[in-house]
Amino acid sequence: MAHAFEPAQSRRTKAYLVGGGIASLASAAYLIRDGGLAGSNISIFEAGSVLGGSLDGAGSPDHGYVIRGGRMFTYEAYTCTFDLLSFIPSLLDPAKSVKDEIIEFNDKVISHSRSRLVRSGEKVDVSIMGFDNRDRLDLIGTMAVSEEMLGAKRIQDVFQPSFFKTNFWFMWATTFAFQPWHSAVEMKRYLHRFLQEFPRLNTLAGVRRTPYNQYESIILPLQKWLKERGVRFETRARVTELDFKYGPDGKGVEQVRYVRDGTQNQIAVGDHDLVFVTIGSMTAGSSLGSMSQPAKAQDGAQDGSWALWGTLAKKHSDFGRPSVFDGNVDKSKWLSFTATMRDPTFFNLMEKFTGNAAGTGGLVTFVDSNWLMSVVLPYQPHFVGQPDDVNVFWGYGLFVDQEGNYVKKRMSDCSGEELLIELLGHLRFDKHKALILKSSNCIPCMMPFITSQFMPRVKGDRPHVKPAGTTNVAFIGQYCEIPDDVVFTVEYSIRSAQMAVYSLLNVDKKVSPLYKARHDLGVYFSSLKTLFH
Ligand SMILES: Cc1cc2nc3c(=O)[nH]c(=O)nc-3n(C[C@H](O)[C@H](O)[C@H](O)COP(=O)(O)OP(=O)(O)OC[C@H]3O[C@@H](n4cnc5c(N)ncnc54)[C@H](O)[C@@H]3O)c2cc1C
Repeated sequence: MAHAFEPAQSRRTKAYLVGGGIASLASAAYLIRDGGLAGSNISIFEAGSVLGGSLDGAGSPDHGYVIRGGRMFTYEAYTCTFDLLSFIPSLLDPAKSVKDEIIEFNDKVISHSRSRLVRSGEKVDVSIMGFDNRDRLDLIGTMAVSEEMLGAKRIQDVFQPSFFKTNFWFMWATTFAFQPWHSAVEMKRYLHRFLQEFPRLNTLAGVRRTPYNQYESIILPLQKWLKERGVRFETRARVTELDFKYGPDGKGVEQVRYVRDGTQNQIAVGDHDLVFVTIGSMTAGSSLGSMSQPAKAQDGAQDGSWALWGTLAKKHSDFGRPSVFDGNVDKSKWLSFTATMRDPTFFNLMEKFTGNAAGTGGLVTFVDSNWLMSVVLPYQPHFVGQPDDVNVFWGYGLFVDQEGNYVKKRMSDCSGEELLIELLGHLRFDKHKALILKSSNCIPCMMPFITSQFMPRVKGDRPHVKPAGTTNVAFIGQYCEIPDDVVFTVEYSIRSAQMAVYSLLNVDKKVSPLYKARHDLGVYFSSLKTLFH
């Protein structure tokens, strides 16, 4: 054991956190609450100019709003997330926690989709999943077999081709953004982690949301809490290298090097100081287009997250293999879009078509879309200060290299206007096309690494949160190894933060329990019923 932190020593310990996403912000919060560190001894280095990483939300009614994504949570699976949010006061009503605010919101805006899948402009009956017996056996087999047995297999290696045409797959794949070529191990983990969602996958009734976009509902209150405690936010600071020294207890970081405004800087890391590193980022290299321009493809190589992990992994064989994740942009990219509507026609038509008021429905997926396009109408307003006569919605497509059904272009080459034209075609809203297009501002967003965390992997491709033989460094975020938990979730990043803080500081506290649906008999039987329905 390298460090045995006493409370008095914790007050002197400094912590350097690489990355300003939820993984780092959560680490800082736990360092203060459970580790006893002084906020003023914590520095967060963020390459960008705002904090929050993937949990973004920006724009205005005039220039258009942008969210790269919208998050779905569940009460069962998000134990770390709700633990964190239970001690962060809401911005709008500081007497409440962010957790209370989310619960109140979801008690008011009940999620129950009446239109999950659409084919040929009509709602699909999703009361059955569409399995045959082989699919059922394959699902049970995937859940039963060990991760070692699955190895680097892809989902398409463990299911027959017709499985990918079932209602289940269309709903499952678009809820979680799975592609057939993604990791079978991750699919197995998801089946276990979200088994409780099986009976309600067709209504998304288990999904919980934040009152506003997650930048305003989660990041800003958390940032305020940290700032009030003196945490230092070093924005526009890209960490380029960590220098290690070797001692009897193992290796530890002795220097953090970073670049700001073209100037190289370094910080000496003291013997009892700590370093937390967010490795990789699913939103690295993302780029925006406009109503008239497509989003330009970028390779993300210039981004701090992948570059730093690459540099570290080259020198330390126990720090994982980033190329497994960032080396397949064609298989990890997709495109999302945010549309700002100054006329209510589209929302009115959608509410009538789906049978859901905005905020109560969730993802609507067009199964015959060449892009496998989905859209969500969140509860309005989705931004603080959004005017009453402006509406905002979000959508995405999984197959961005395909030509559209209505716009004969690859999705990745489409402007915001063309994305809307394709959507209106699938909805058969052509009569209202001119009005809707004239009053909308749709902004495409290309994300080259958005599903990089789902690429097939084997043991050793992801480093442990606290690698054996290291003294003062932990890896956090989506690309470290956490047994049983699932990536592409806020939960995973926050779990990594809890694990990192508790292990580096030897905090006598347990990481929030990981909910295991298979241990709940009620869930187990209702899932079986859905499987055989
Ligand atoms: C479209 C979309 C939909 C999603 N849907 C859901 C959902 O429904 N439910 C859910 O739970 N989750 C969802 N997620 C996932 C969730 O948002 C992420 O898992 C989570 O936000 C990742 O946080 P992070 O802090 O680990 O990493 P990131 O958010 O990637 O943040 C990392 C930050 O660190 C910075 N950084 C990295 N390296 C360096 C360096 N060397 N120097 C300086 N700065 C650096 C980066 O600039 C970045 O700001 C979604 C994400 C997206 C994009």
